[in-house]
Amino acid sequence: DIPVITIDGPTASGKGTLTDVVAHALGYHVLDSGALYRVTGLAASRAGVSLDDGDAVAALVPTLDLRFTQGHVFLAGQEVSADLRLEATGLMASQVGAHPPVRRALHQLQLDFRRLPGLVADGRDMGTAIFPEASLKVFLTASAATRAERRYRQLISKGLSANMEGLRADLEARDARDKGRSASPLQAAADAIELDNSAQTIEESRDLVLSWWQQKRPF
Ligand code: C5P
Repeated sequence: DIPVITIDGPTASGKGTLTDVVAHALGYHVLDSGALYRVTGLAASRAGVSLDDGDAVAALVPTLDLRFTQGHVFLAGQEVSADLRLEATGLMASQVGAHPPVRRALHQLQLDFRRLPGLVADGRDMGTAIFPEASLKVFLTASAATRAERRYRQLISKGLSANMEGLRADLEARDARDKGRSASPLQAAADAIELDNSAQTIEESRDLVLSWWQQKRPF
């Protein structure tokens, strides 16, 4: 059995960073499931497929020529990592992710990321729908104000302009859609440990998760 740690939570809660540092500490692989939804939304929009047509978007998934290497994503041989991080692409991801056929089309692809010595999976439904048998499930939260401020600093540090109120409105709208949809809504698994990292450094969150893993890991 391949050990799996799931880290789910809302937009900009720091899941991606926490996933990377925990995986690095353990020497585990990473699944950034949001990137799969993002690349699906991007590919559909580029192909002129309506993001509201769940069956059409799902039909596109098996035809996608995707490659993931160390945080870089290639679509049909072209690097799309920067496009994937755009807020507009996040919205496309949230739109296509609302369709059950799209979620089913991406299911096996996500399971295929399991490799020895282990996997840390980041998303919205990793602990509920994709890896329900995971030995450790974390549900990461942070206040909307904290999340908007982190996004803001990230953008400013890249020399981009940003508006705190607008960022907060965007992430609250995306949370509402992710929680309100009928297909795999954003919610903590019954056996998940909730972690509010609003007042924590990334090292503090990492060490906490590693200490839980010491107690819970199946070996
Ligand atoms: O985590 P990230 O911001 O990259 O996710 C983008 C969007 O993709 C989310 O807002 C959500 O709607 C969707 N998503 C999902 N299920 C996942 C990961 C992401 O529905 N496991």
